This record gives sequence, C-alpha cells and structure tokens, in this order.
Amino acid sequence: MAKKELKSDGIFFTGKAADDVTGSQYLVRFGSKKILLECGLHQSSSNDYLDSYKINAEKFNFRPSEIDYLFVNHTHIDHVGLAPRLVKEGFHGKIITTYNTAMIMKPLLYNSCAIIQDEARILSKRYGRNYQPLYSEDDVAKTLSLIEIYDEYGKIYDLDDVVSFQWFKNSHCLGAAQLQLILKNGSKTRKVLYTSDLGALHTDNHYLENTEIPDVFSDVTIIESTYGEAKRNSKKKRSFDIAHLKSAVDTVLERGGSAIFPCFSFSRTQEILTTLYDIYGVHEDFCTPIFVDSKLSCDISALYSELLHDSDLDKWSKVCEWENVHFISEKEESRSVVADNKQKIVISSSGFCTNGRVVSYLKKYLADRNSMIIFSGYVGDNPSYLSYRIKNYRENKFIKVNKEMVKNRADCITLSTFSSHANFNDLVRFGSSLNTNKVILVHGSKEAKRCLAQKLSDAISKNNKTYRVLESFKGMTVKL
Ligand SMILES: [Zn+2]
Ligand SMILES: [Zn+2]
Repeated sequence: MAKKELKSDGIFFTGKAADDVTGSQYLVRFGSKKILLECGLHQSSSNDYLDSYKINAEKFNFRPSEIDYLFVNHTHIDHVGLAPRLVKEGFHGKIITTYNTAMIMKPLLYNSCAIIQDEARILSKRYGRNYQPLYSEDDVAKTLSLIEIYDEYGKIYDLDDVVSFQWFKNSHCLGAAQLQLILKNGSKTRKVLYTSDLGALHTDNHYLENTEIPDVFSDVTIIESTYGEAKRNSKKKRSFDIAHLKSAVDTVLERGGSAIFPCFSFSRTQEILTTLYDIYGVHEDFCTPIFVDSKLSCDISALYSELLHDSDLDKWSKVCEWENVHFISEKEESRSVVADNKQKIVISSSGFCTNGRVVSYLKKYLADRNSMIIFSGYVGDNPSYLSYRIKNYRENKFIKVNKEMVKNRADCITLSTFSSHANFNDLVRFGSSLNTNKVILVHGSKEAKRCLAQKLSDAISKNNKTYRVLESFKGMTVKL
C-alpha cells in the first residue's frame, strides 16, 4: 500500500483524472466507511501500451478489501474499467449503480478485458518479459456479481447508518447519473455531489434525459471540466451539423466514394445511426448499405432494444429495422465488407481510431480521394491519437496507420456538436448555480481547469454566491 492515506474524514484524489481526462477514481472516507467514486482505466492515446499499462498497474493508494462501496455513475471504461482489478485485489463490497449502467457494463468490461489481455501479450512479446494482464474474465464475472442496482433518480437510498445517496439526472449517456453522497456520523453530516462526466443541460442526443442542476446543498461538489477551455465554446447548433452531415454524405455518394464514421461503441454509434435514419430513412430510393462494424457496437445496440422504453424504443426499433442497416459482429464478415469495393457507409470503433476494426477501413479509404472520414465529437488533443492526425494533418501526403504509411487523400470533417460532454457554457452555468461550499474541478487538462476555475469564480460572484473553486491534482486531499 502507498504511504499516503487519508487518516480522517475527507476526499482523496487518487486517480489519474485528478490531473487528466481519463482514469476517474476518488476515495471518500467518512466515519468507519470507505467509498470509492468510480474506478476507471487510464486510456492511453498511442499504441505503445507500456505507459498506460504502468499507470493502470500502479498500486492502489488504499486497501481494496477495506472499501465498502464502489459507486459507478456511468459506464465508460475510463470510469469503470479498473473495477475488475480492484476486485482481483480484494474488494468485496457493493458496486452501486443504475440498471442501464449495470446492463451496459457487462459487454463493456468483457471487451475491456479482451483488449487488456491482447495488450499484455503484445507487451510481453515486444519487451521479452512477462506482462500479466491486469485482470481476467473471472475477475470481470466477480465484479458483475457485486453490483446492486438503485434505479430511481431523486430518491434517497440508505445503504447503512453512515452512507445514504441519491442520483440526479445526467444526459452524458444511457444510465448516467450524478451522485450525491449523504454521510452521517453521530451529529456530523456531510454531503458530496459528484457529477462524473456531465452531459449537456439541453441535450440534442436521442434516448437521453437532460442533465439537471441538483437543487440540494452539498458541502463539496466535484465537477468534470473536459470542455473547460473557453475556446471549446462553440456557437454551432446540432441542426448545422446535421445539414453538414447530409451534404457531406450526399457529396461522397455522388462521386462514388464511401463514408467512414469512427465512433465509440456505446452511445455515439447509436446516435450517428439514428441521425442517418432521420436524414435518409424516409427516402425509399436511398440504397447505400450502412454497416455497424464492431462486435461491441452490435452487442450494445442489441441491448438498447431491451433497455429503451416507449417512444425511445419505437424510434430505435425503426432504426434497427431499416433495411439499409447491417450489424457486423463476426470478424470474418467484417473482412469481407472491408474487401468489398462497393460504396458504403461504415460506423466502426474506436472513435479515436487507436484500435478496433475502424483501422482496417481507414487503411483502405484514407487513400481514396472520393471517400470521407467523418468524426463526431472529441478526436483527442495530441498527435498520438490517429483521429487527431487524420483531422489535423490535412496537408500531409501520408498518414501513419499503425506501422503502415497510408496515402492521405480522403476528405475529413468533424461534427463537433455530437459530443456527450457539457460544453463550456453549460459547465459555467452548472458550476455557478449550485448551493455548495466548495467546487473542485476534475477530469480536464490543467489549462481547462485553470480557465474554467477563473470563469466560474466570476460567474459565482455575479450570481451573488461565495463558494470557492479548486483545481484538483493527483494526491490532493480535502477534509470533510
Ligand atoms: Zn464518460
Ligand atoms: Zn470520462
């Protein structure tokens, strides 16, 4: 166990996301209880896996066996992907989450496990020593068996004498919630609000409810700051991006090319597919096939049919029954779709193009001047992301895809309004409208936190409030 440990009631910023946008993990200690707010994997941008392996294999700053509860606010790998290692190292408490998050967590964690095992194999071969995978399928199964579902938003649930909590709505993705912990020890009560990743206050995405600004008092509020830089404040509306998307796809199809959408398997894939249905589903003469090519994307898309209700389910069913759509789960079938020279629209993972089947499509279609790569949302902030290079290196004649130099001829556009994160304005509005004593910014670059902290402080005093804004760093502690 590391030297630093929280000795009294407080919050300990233990994970990488105290410094960065990935690897969320915060330890709360109160009375006799220890609570972990998420347990995310640090996701590296490059395909040299050693850095992220080292970070993800780092010793926990606490004894996993002493943690009573692990809260999972939403099921993205950078928020839950390290949970099986926590279990492997002795955690046997309860994992508290919503129903939708629990259901989507299953395919996501098994997929993460497969990637982790691949990476360990590659590292062992590359460096000639034995890199053990961080966890196994058994650890994933054990993790899933510890889940307890609490599904009602706004309701206060008592877990024991010390720990109660409630969820608040969050449009970040299906199942996402903000968490308020209500902690009691004798006469002492403390409340901690943790937003996790925060979706837009008025979301344009399908199948989601708007993020709410919780109307409750919190001693401490922990807010994400992914888009904390003012330059991320786009005035663009979704309607602009939809028109842009339509004209781009029309152009590509007219000139005989294909359109490739690198998309994350959960949420963005379903959103882009639904948007294409909204645009082209009504046109009977629209006959271009649309391939959703990723096993995980197929599994999660199938889950959507079980998890959605009412008008959302009706809509999603229409999308899935659209005759143009083909879900490609098997690798063999994927290879033949890649090899086929017919025009197509492809939605494939991963969104950052670091790995996954989208890489095979990029190797082929980047070189085709009639085709187009269409990004939606964040493409990474440095050249180690292939998505970043494709977007920003328009002048380069070649782009390195894995180890191969590929001709860089295809067009490329980015649809920025498709992000699942609150934009700068929403973050400022959210963070300055709270009833709290202290705001702590996490899950953002240094610059993003600095910029947001400044803007928030101004907005808070404009709102005649007095609470302070702190920028987190890994290892920081805050007393409760
Ligand atoms: Zn997220
Ligand atoms: Zn995140």
